[in-house]
Amino acid sequence: MAATKQFEAESKRLLDIMINSIYSQKEIFLRELISNASDAIDKMYYKALTDDSITFNQDDFYIKVSADKDNRILKIEDTGVGMTEEELEQNLGTIAQSGSLAFKNENEIEDGHDIIGQFGVGFYSAFMVADTVTVYTKSADSGQAFKWQSNGAEGYTIEPAEKETHGTQILIQVKESSEEENYDDYLEENRLQSIIKKYSDYIRYPIKMDVTEQQPQEDNEEETVEVTEEQTINSMIPIWKKNKSELTDEDYEAFYAERRYGFDKPLKHVHLSIDGQVRYQAILFIPENTPFDYYTQDYEKGLELYSNGVLIMEKCADLLPDYFGFVKGIVDSEDLSLNISREMLQHDRQLRLIGKNIKSKIKKELQSMLKNERENYEKFYQSFGRQLKFGVQMDYGANKDDLKDLLLFYSSKEKKMVSLAEYVERMKDDQQYIYYATGESYDRIEKLPQTEMVLDKGYEILYFTEDIDEFAIKTLMSYDDKEFKSVASGDLGIESEEDEEKEESEQQENKEMFDELKNLLAGKVKDVRASKRLKSHPVCLTADGEVSIEMEKILQSMPD
Ligand code: ADP
Ligand code: MG
Repeated sequence: MAATKQFEAESKRLLDIMINSIYSQKEIFLRELISNASDAIDKMYYKALTDDSITFNQDDFYIKVSADKDNRILKIEDTGVGMTEEELEQNLGTIAQSGSLAFKNENEIEDGHDIIGQFGVGFYSAFMVADTVTVYTKSADSGQAFKWQSNGAEGYTIEPAEKETHGTQILIQVKESSEEENYDDYLEENRLQSIIKKYSDYIRYPIKMDVTEQQPQEDNEEETVEVTEEQTINSMIPIWKKNKSELTDEDYEAFYAERRYGFDKPLKHVHLSIDGQVRYQAILFIPENTPFDYYTQDYEKGLELYSNGVLIMEKCADLLPDYFGFVKGIVDSEDLSLNISREMLQHDRQLRLIGKNIKSKIKKELQSMLKNERENYEKFYQSFGRQLKFGVQMDYGANKDDLKDLLLFYSSKEKKMVSLAEYVERMKDDQQYIYYATGESYDRIEKLPQTEMVLDKGYEILYFTEDIDEFAIKTLMSYDDKEFKSVASGDLGIESEEDEEKEESEQQENKEMFDELKNLLAGKVKDVRASKRLKSHPVCLTADGEVSIEMEKILQSMPD
């Protein structure tokens, strides 16, 4: 009988803490054991590359998961490097000891290899569901196999064992279910399959399981028989590493739903495979609907960030400018190191390059949508146009050139949304300015006396109903060298000399009346004047200077 060795004191405490707190969901033990198996196969693969006496045969490398319900045993088996007695002792006897990290350091592996482990705690997560864990392992470097066994708290035993081929088998004696916790699930074929899909879908080696299914009989299609066959559960190649031509819109939509990017269908997806200054693959989505918390502090922008198929961060905010914060998706780059910290990421040159690249791709995509899929673009704009207008104004207008061509405003012409380019394109020959009017609603704006004269000239007016509209164009100042002008401003740039002379003479003729009015309205208005811009209305209010009456209202309502 092998002597029982104690875990080191700290290890025992750590084990308790870990089992009870690190992992919020028990099911992830399977992810950890499968990642270890994948690491072990990677190491074998690496060995084969560096040692001519080992022949590498793709089919020999797999992970197999099987459940024996009657005996409550779940088995995870791999054909990886295995462990020697010393390695068993070191790696499974000491918590927070990672053989995988040591392997990477010793072999100075930088890229091209995809070993996941580095913290040395994943293995013990098995004790969340196990009464006893038994490991049979045979190293590719030695002839003798060993058995390691532990029930968690009481330490572990190691003794020689029989095993023909190199690799590791992990046997989990699954706990009995209690009222609080159901462990039977971890012996159910369907449940195991779905856990594997959820966490380990992109593991590069096949994860196999014997699956029992009802299949139609060969000679009699009406009748079914139970057939058990070995199936590969994981898709191995992540969707973003697949070729665009192999994928359909439905595949992308399914991915969008699977990753829980939103409950809507995406309006648009962009699949990128960049092989330039920095290498990365990405799938980006433009959602159709505004997330309920989008325009609040609670909304967290960001893209999923992977390093060669392994998740680094669920929401990497640095990859998206605020004004494109609505974009969802994933980025995978082999140029990023896995064990990079959140703080370091911010300053990472590769990441900054990827971010810059992604920004320009999104901009291009939106521009092409505006040009070629107008209806979709307007749907998008309904949800996120406000964000773009905020974007123009943010950072003292630093991004205005990126955004000005993406803006739409409601227009007096045809009562539709127009872009600034479209407005300028159809400006009248004698028209100097881009006119706009502000108000609570399109109806209200339409009835403003100030709009009349401009419309009479056949000029188009942009109708601004959102607070941010006027702020945004004040930041832009002009578009295509055409300045913006409020129809409520003093000088509309329409009045002819003749008009002005007439206005002046009327002003003189009625001087007494105007002075009287001015006295009556003292403190409320600055001046009372004759105007040529009125047609059917007897009087209108005009703003003094650059700030429109609407804008003044907003400014006054703001806290100091
Ligand atoms: P990590 O994977 O972060 O290194 P783990 O606790 O998951 O930490 O595993 C500890 C170590 O045990 C690994 O680094 C590896 O050296 C060894 N190990 C675990 N599982 C296997 C396996 N299936 N085959 C070979 N070695 C393994
Ligand atoms: Mg691990």
